[in-house]
Amino acid sequence: MLLRGRPLHQGEIEAVLFDKDGTLCHSELRLLALARARVNQCQRFLEQRHPQLALSVAAELAPRLEATYGVQGNGLHPAGTTAVASREHNLISTATALAQLGLGWPEALELADAAFQHCDLTADDELSAGSTATDGVHELLQQLCGAGVACAVISNDDQQGIAAFLASHNLGPCFAALRSADHHPRKPDPAAVVALCSDLGTEPGRCALIGDANSDLLMAERAGVAVVLGYGAGWQQPPPLEPRFPQLAHWRELEVLRT
Ligand SMILES: [Mg+2]
Repeated sequence: MLLRGRPLHQGEIEAVLFDKDGTLCHSELRLLALARARVNQCQRFLEQRHPQLALSVAAELAPRLEATYGVQGNGLHPAGTTAVASREHNLISTATALAQLGLGWPEALELADAAFQHCDLTADDELSAGSTATDGVHELLQQLCGAGVACAVISNDDQQGIAAFLASHNLGPCFAALRSADHHPRKPDPAAVVALCSDLGTEPGRCALIGDANSDLLMAERAGVAVVLGYGAGWQQPPPLEPRFPQLAHWRELEVLRT
């Protein structure tokens, strides 16, 4: 495999593991809509269930949650909670923001859980399916398939979200294995990488991993992945990636050699 004409690795790469959100697809608008829906629902439930809170205190929730989620104007911070973290971690950070307003932890957690469930029910699967694939990713996947390199997805989205995206872009046949938030261990545990490699019949030292967050890249490094690459074109604002990892801004910068 070559990056801008230079070999990335001495030996053969047997498999490439791809992050989904911000790597295989542009997820910013969908995730921004999800973050805003969660903010609105938490605000609604807070006012309904805790009318004893002063309005001035309740009014602090929305800006606090927006900051927590990494909402920045009409975009998302590419390394923020909504962009990178699992639903479970987002739920905990939401409960923390509620606790900061004076709610007890059990009430904060219950309210956050109810708001998230409400948003899950109203979340449109079409929105999930409607994420745009990043430019040139179909061509790269075809090259990889043609060269006999296995591909896999490693994501903090759930199984359903990954399947909806792959089906809507007809990408399912390109991927031999998936690792979602429904699996244990999961991202960013390096053991998730090792398990996924094992599902593919290979090992990290014969694989590449491409992601748009430092948590992806560090996980890959710790798992002993041979080629760790940062992808920077999935967000309006480029993600702040550790410069020691090679990075690419378009899939055409990668070239797959047939062995
Ligand atoms: Mg990502």
